[in-house]
Amino acid sequence: MADQSPFEAVNQFFDEAADLVHLKDDFYDVLKTSYREIAVQVPVRMTDGALKVFRGYRVQHNGARGPYKGGIRYHPSADLDEVRALASLMTWKTALMDLPFGGAKGGIECDPSGMNAHELEAMTRRFTLSISHVLGERRDIPAPDVNTNAQVMAWMMDAYSSRYGYTPAIVTGKPLDLGGAPGREAATGRGCVYVLEAAAKRWDVDLGSATVAIQGFGNVGSWAARELHERGVKVVAVSDVSGAIYDPAGLDCEHLLSWTTARRHLADIEGGDKITNEELLELDVDVLIPAALGEVINAGNADKIRAGIIVEAANHPTTPDADKILTDKGVKIIADILANGGGVTGSYFEWAMNIQQFRWKETQFNSELRDVMVRAFDACAAFAERRNVSLRQAAFAIGIERVARAARLRGYV
Ligand code: NAD
Repeated sequence: MADQSPFEAVNQFFDEAADLVHLKDDFYDVLKTSYREIAVQVPVRMTDGALKVFRGYRVQHNGARGPYKGGIRYHPSADLDEVRALASLMTWKTALMDLPFGGAKGGIECDPSGMNAHELEAMTRRFTLSISHVLGERRDIPAPDVNTNAQVMAWMMDAYSSRYGYTPAIVTGKPLDLGGAPGREAATGRGCVYVLEAAAKRWDVDLGSATVAIQGFGNVGSWAARELHERGVKVVAVSDVSGAIYDPAGLDCEHLLSWTTARRHLADIEGGDKITNEELLELDVDVLIPAALGEVINAGNADKIRAGIIVEAANHPTTPDADKILTDKGVKIIADILANGGGVTGSYFEWAMNIQQFRWKETQFNSELRDVMVRAFDACAAFAERRNVSLRQAAFAIGIERVARAARLRGYV
């Protein structure tokens, strides 16, 4: 269905899984719609003196299992429908990972690549204060997502704390100096690799001889690349918004990292073959990791994808029609709500540490993270095998059952 919106697509995944667990009819409307949606005006005086008015959103999808939790995205396509879709995914993800959170997401429709640090800070502070009445360390806790990072979280925490008093647990993914947790920055990419290792073990795949292509080399993609490289797994292609670089002999991930951390584009790096982001997705590799934006795998390219395993590091990278084409071809897809669940799991650790005012060492953080990821993968794989359904359907079904149980116990339905 070409003109399906992101929220409609997520709800199609929801419907398929809800049918599997025989969800009662009266639950559908509660679990398919959001609890609260806020749209705010974010006026910013730019450095050239012009006033720009951005649109910002916070969608709280479902809070049956705990405070709302979800990232903040700065992107031209971060409109209300996309934020709603991502908020819904967070509900199923937090439940699947068995964390005491509900699901939320936020975003500002803007192009941050054309903004300087002063403008980004002003926009972040104005947005945070405009939605602060629905935030709270026991109410709703944002985190980084596309084009937001630890610095943006620091500004959010400071803006919130200036109104309500010092509250480090109001956001996660903070800098270490402000209560961030050692390990959180790497947690999403690292979590993807923990899940891939668990899958390889279960499916008898030798990662030592596997090739991997990664779309997106930001927080998630670069950490996944680093972790794979450390394990001797061959990363043959990576990309950013400027394009992709490919070397069948394997890329030097450390060199790529030092290049991109200096804010340079991969299109300008020397060595390797320059290919497009579209060509990267269609490479003849064993594992494909989309780690950038949504809907990059769709009906237009699904039949050209050659990877046998797809690890959805990005949120909603595969449309429902592409999902069907690939699943029918026998491609194993580790769905976003499972594959990238390491991010919110790491955020949970950080939030709990802030509230209790102590800090784990990174080794303990990583070992607890691995436990959560492997447990969630095993639960999904066992459900999928038992019911003969895809891993995505299994992941949604487990999440939906848990949220439905909490909603019933709390008397929502
Ligand atoms: P990021 O902003 O750090 O990095 C995004 C990367 O994608 C960059 O390399 C960018 O150049 C690239 N990119 C942007 N537009 C592109 C395009 N049109 N084509 C190809 N590449 C493009 O973001 P991130 O935090 O790494 O998030 C990446 C994905 O992972 C998103 O879908 C996000 O929702 C998901 N995710 C992130 C976290 C987290 O903890 N940061 C947690 C769970 C899921």
